[in-house]
Amino acid sequence: MVDKPLSIKIYLAILGLLIIIKRPDIVDKENRVQSVPTQQLLAQYDYVIIGGGSAGAVLANRLSEDENRTVLLLEAGLNEDILSDVPDNVGILSHTSYDWDFKTEPSSNYCLAMNNYRCYWPRGKVF
Ligand SMILES: Cc1cc2nc3c(=O)[nH]c(=O)nc-3n(C[C@H](O)[C@H](O)[C@H](O)COP(=O)(O)OP(=O)(O)OC[C@H]3O[C@@H](n4cnc5c(N)ncnc54)[C@H](O)[C@@H]3O)c2cc1C
Repeated sequence: MVDKPLSIKIYLAILGLLIIIKRPDIVDKENRVQSVPTQQLLAQYDYVIIGGGSAGAVLANRLSEDENRTVLLLEAGLNEDILSDVPDNVGILSHTSYDWDFKTEPSSNYCLAMNNYRCYWPRGKVF
C-alpha cells in the first residue's frame, strides 16, 4: 500500500467535503452497506454470493427481491467511499485499501519496461 502525498490527501478531503455539501443524494448514508455481526447470520442460505462487485451486487439485489429467499453476499473489501463515485479519482484510489494491488507474474515476453518485469494489475476490492 502506497501512502499518498499530503497534497493528494488535502485534495481528497476538500473533494469529499464538497460532495457532502453539494451532492447529499450520492452520499445516501441510510442505504450504505452495514456490517452484520456474525451472531446475526443465519445457519444456512438459499444463495451465497462471493464478491459484492458489479456482478455480485446486482445478482444479490435481484435474488433478494423475493422475500422468501435468503441471500448472503460476502465481500472482502470495504464499503465504497463517496470519492470513488468520481471517475477521475481512479488513479488516486489505486494502491489503497480499495485495490487488491495485484501484479502480473514476471515474464520475459511482456511488461519488459517494468520493475522485475511485472505490471501493476488494478482490481477493485470494494462493495
Ligand atoms: C481501475 C479500474 C477502472 C475501471 N473503470 C471502469 C469504467 O470506467 N467503466 C467500466 O465499465 N468498467 C471499468 N472497469 C472494469 C470494471 O470494474 C469491471 O469490468 C467490473 O467491475 C467486473 O465486474 P465483476 O463483478 O466481474 O468483478 P468486480 O467488480 O471486480 O467484483 C469482484 C468482487 O469480488 C471481491 N472478492 C474477490 N475475492 C473475494 C473473496 N475471496 N471473498 C470475498 N470477496 C472477494 C472483490 O473484492 C470485488 O469487490 C474498471 C476496472 C478497474 C480495475
